[in-house]
Amino acid sequence: MQERPSGGGTVTLEGLEKRFDDEVAVDGIDLRIEPGEFFALLGPSGCGKTTTLRMIGGFERPTSGRVLIDDQDVSTIPPEKRPVNTVFQSYALFPHMSVADNVGFGLRFAKGVGKGEARRRVDEALELVRLTRLAHRRPSQLSGGQQQRVALARALVLRPRVLLLDEPLGALDAKLRKELRAELTSLQRTVGITFVFVTHDQEEALSMSHRLAVMHNGQMVQCGRPREVYESPATAFVAEFLGVANLFDVEFDQSGTCTVAGHPVRPGAGQPAGMARIVVRPERVQLLNGTGSASGDNAVPGVVRERVYVGALSQLDITLPDGGNLQVVMANDGRPVPAPGEPVTASLPADAIRVLTG
Ligand code: ATP
Repeated sequence: MQERPSGGGTVTLEGLEKRFDDEVAVDGIDLRIEPGEFFALLGPSGCGKTTTLRMIGGFERPTSGRVLIDDQDVSTIPPEKRPVNTVFQSYALFPHMSVADNVGFGLRFAKGVGKGEARRRVDEALELVRLTRLAHRRPSQLSGGQQQRVALARALVLRPRVLLLDEPLGALDAKLRKELRAELTSLQRTVGITFVFVTHDQEEALSMSHRLAVMHNGQMVQCGRPREVYESPATAFVAEFLGVANLFDVEFDQSGTCTVAGHPVRPGAGQPAGMARIVVRPERVQLLNGTGSASGDNAVPGVVRERVYVGALSQLDITLPDGGNLQVVMANDGRPVPAPGEPVTASLPADAIRVLTG
């Protein structure tokens, strides 16, 4: 991950809440997004991501709480007066205008920007999104990905302190989405503007953002760097939303040891005695040998129930002695991958075991 460039604005949300009649769409969010950060709001449909973004943009008034940009309270300021711009999923381009005119449209109303300056900025924005060659085309003569880039250029040309992006890759097919992920990330690193990005796609959030917030039922359940949130999920919801998770309800004894399918398991960090829930990611499980007998801490025997080949990886479902299931992911790196029916020993490395808080 590259260093964050400076140049963008800060976004601060204080006790931000939005109710629609009886429904609480956003339930008290406190958050500070730093200058030049690429920040993702991630969560399932209906969790309140778009409503949060719309409150930052000024399209929705908070029921309570405040939105500050560069430490200035903008809660009651209309969208066009905020140093913020939004790229919507639908792009909303003008069909009868050329690409260049679409990009320059907002500059017509910008104070102190003459025609020469406007032309210079449009050229610069088109170059940034690599559309110079297509400046004279109409939106209908562009591919989906190219239209998305016009929408981006149109927002960037106004030089906002903060750019809000609502599922900007949502209308594109899977392959193009992947390509544009890298492009959008590199563009953000170049312009240094703070990006706040809404997505329900965990890969998108993990691969593009400096930090992300996972939302659930209008609340922010965890916020941190992608690796932190993925490897140390705070709750079962986060663990399961961000990838595949092996969850076990366990009881720790006085020595900080619990059992998984009757076999002793101890996480790296000491644990107080009592009931808890632990999680292990499938790629962190190591299959030791084919004997099916476990020896030592954190080793659990099992039998392969299913093996799925997915190119670079194999996914295995292991049945544990108590009938429970353990999911394992192995790289197809030349080592033999156990077949269905084979006994195995699964080792759960101490530093891969996380104790959840909820
Ligand atoms: P999606 O990914 O489906 O867009 P989201 O996480 O962005 O979902 P929001 O659009 O913020 O979620 O909606 C949060 C909740 O608020 C939902 O239950 C939604 O039905 C409700 N909601 C959003 N806008 C309105 C509105 N204008 N009037 C009434 N309820 C609304």
